[in-house]
Amino acid sequence: MEEHADIVIVGAGHGGAQAAISLRQLKFAGTIAMLSEDPDIPYDRPSLSKEYLAGERPFERMLLRPAAFWEQHRILLRSACAVTAMDPEAHRIRLSDGGEMRFGALIWAAGGRPRMLTCPGHQLAGVHTLRSRHDVDRITTELTRADRVAVIGGGYIGLEVAATLRKRGKHVTVLEALDRVLARVAGEPLSRFYEREHRAHGVEVQLGARVECIEEDAGRAAGVRLADGTLVPASMVIVGIGIAPITEVLLEAGAQGDNGVMIDEYCRTSLPDVYAIGDCAAHVNAFSAVPRMRLESVQNAADMAKTVAKALTGAPEPYHSVPWFWSTQYDLHLQTVGVSAGHDDIVVRGDPSARSFSLVYRRGGRVIALDCVNSARDFAQGRALVLNGTAPDPRALADPTIALSTLRGN
Ligand code: FAD
Repeated sequence: MEEHADIVIVGAGHGGAQAAISLRQLKFAGTIAMLSEDPDIPYDRPSLSKEYLAGERPFERMLLRPAAFWEQHRILLRSACAVTAMDPEAHRIRLSDGGEMRFGALIWAAGGRPRMLTCPGHQLAGVHTLRSRHDVDRITTELTRADRVAVIGGGYIGLEVAATLRKRGKHVTVLEALDRVLARVAGEPLSRFYEREHRAHGVEVQLGARVECIEEDAGRAAGVRLADGTLVPASMVIVGIGIAPITEVLLEAGAQGDNGVMIDEYCRTSLPDVYAIGDCAAHVNAFSAVPRMRLESVQNAADMAKTVAKALTGAPEPYHSVPWFWSTQYDLHLQTVGVSAGHDDIVVRGDPSARSFSLVYRRGGRVIALDCVNSARDFAQGRALVLNGTAPDPRALADPTIALSTLRGN
């Protein structure tokens, strides 16, 4: 018999789980089904590269809600069940278990899958990506016999993995293709700061490193060969080179999109009654100089989920959240607010060597973003500068003894 739910949520990550929670908070009384390819019930993904990989937090303490919550709130949660096709006219989806389900409205919250290398050796045993609990469990099992780890990619996930594995006593090399780490997401002063920190903690950081292939020994990864001929010995390789949004089902069903499915300010796709949120959703962000973008953050997934829940319960409000994000490496807590892409100037506030400072990104004199390292006060107070597009005096901005909350525009 064909099943039906008033609202079907595809994906039970940060976006999907928050959508279900918000719908019930807003007193949505209809049926909700949440379908997820992941075999686990909703859990906190950022902890994977931090406390969970470090062995400091058991999985049970990463659950977004206790296991009983979903049933108590009449949310049908079906794990290990992927949506494989959609008929948008009939409001029907096909499932990986062969079943079909009809929906009144559908929220696509399928996130992304890690990009993989394509070079020879990329499929060898010992080569990993990191997106799910299952990925970390496999890495952890193999770590006992891996002393040398090569991390390919010097973005946030690669650097967090490097920091965590150093804590676990591993010899770690970070291989970054560009001339600085965090090049796609942060300004140069932050890149150089993190590069120094990792080196000081014993990580080898190789910039401009072009991977030629993964070398093999008895069927397992034995090292990374670079284009200049260098061999970086490693019995484990962790690839952190970004994600590709999971959108095939929607795009094949006719939704508009490319790098992400296109949504409007209410998270509606171009398909009737089909919404998309989180990492896979390409949207126009009021706080970004980039015309249309995807954001990969818990904040964005959760706030978009709330936007859809409001739209589906008759109280629509456009998405208008100031983006924020965090990353933890060693004893450094980075908090970012706003979108720095498109800045034309960076003010360094405080002294990076003191390991507590902020970068303030400006465009046309207005503050568009901040990266705050061990500087929770700047993060909390800087948000208003981004929200209001304030253009303070740069000398005052650079002076950490002047609270950001006291600054006004010129
Ligand atoms: P996800 O949380 O990825 O959830 C998508 C779900 O959909 C998955 O469970 C997937 O299995 C399922 N799915 C996929 N395809 C299908 C299908 N066809 N049918 C059914 N189900 C499907 N963000 C921060 O803000 N701060 C951090 O410090 C931070 N650290 C991170 C560390 C790591 C290791 C990773 C991987 C991410 C981190 N992020 C961090 C990013 C953050 O986790 C994501 O932005 C967030 O999880 C996005 O939520 P989402 O719901 O869009 O996708």
